[in-house]
Amino acid sequence: MDSGIQLFSPLVKLQVEKNMKKKEKNGMFYLEKTIEISASHKLELDYGSKCQRLHGHNFKVKIYCKSPTLDKNGMVVDFEIIKELVSALDHSDLNHFILQPTSENIAKYVWKLVPRCYKVDVIESEGNKVTYEGE
Ligand SMILES: [Zn+2]
Repeated sequence: MDSGIQLFSPLVKLQVEKNMKKKEKNGMFYLEKTIEISASHKLELDYGSKCQRLHGHNFKVKIYCKSPTLDKNGMVVDFEIIKELVSALDHSDLNHFILQPTSENIAKYVWKLVPRCYKVDVIESEGNKVTYEGE
C-alpha cells in the first residue's frame, strides 16, 4: 500500500511543501500560566484609605508569553521557571520588592521578570483585575 504522501499529485505535493515552509516562518507559540501568591503590601496614597495599612491578598497572577521560535528544549519558557520566578513573591511583603506595589506595579514587575512575557494579569480579588502589556 502507498504511503499517504504518495497519494498527492506532484503539483499538490509541491504546494503542500511550499505552504509548510511559509508557515514555518509565520507561526507564533502562546503560553499562559496562572500562579496564586499570598502577599502583603501597603500603599502610599494622597488620600485616606485602609490600603495605607499593611494588609494581605491572595493574588492570582496570569502570565502570558509568546515566541515565534522555541528554545533548544522545544519550549517558549519552561512553566517551572515561570513558577520559580513568580513564586519568589509568595508569602512576602511586596513593598520589599516593588516600589508602591499596586496591582498595576506588580503586573509590570512580573512582566519584566519573566522571559518572553508580553502580558500579565493581576487579579487582586474577584472583580478587580489589572493587565499590563508590552513587548
Ligand atoms: Zn491591597
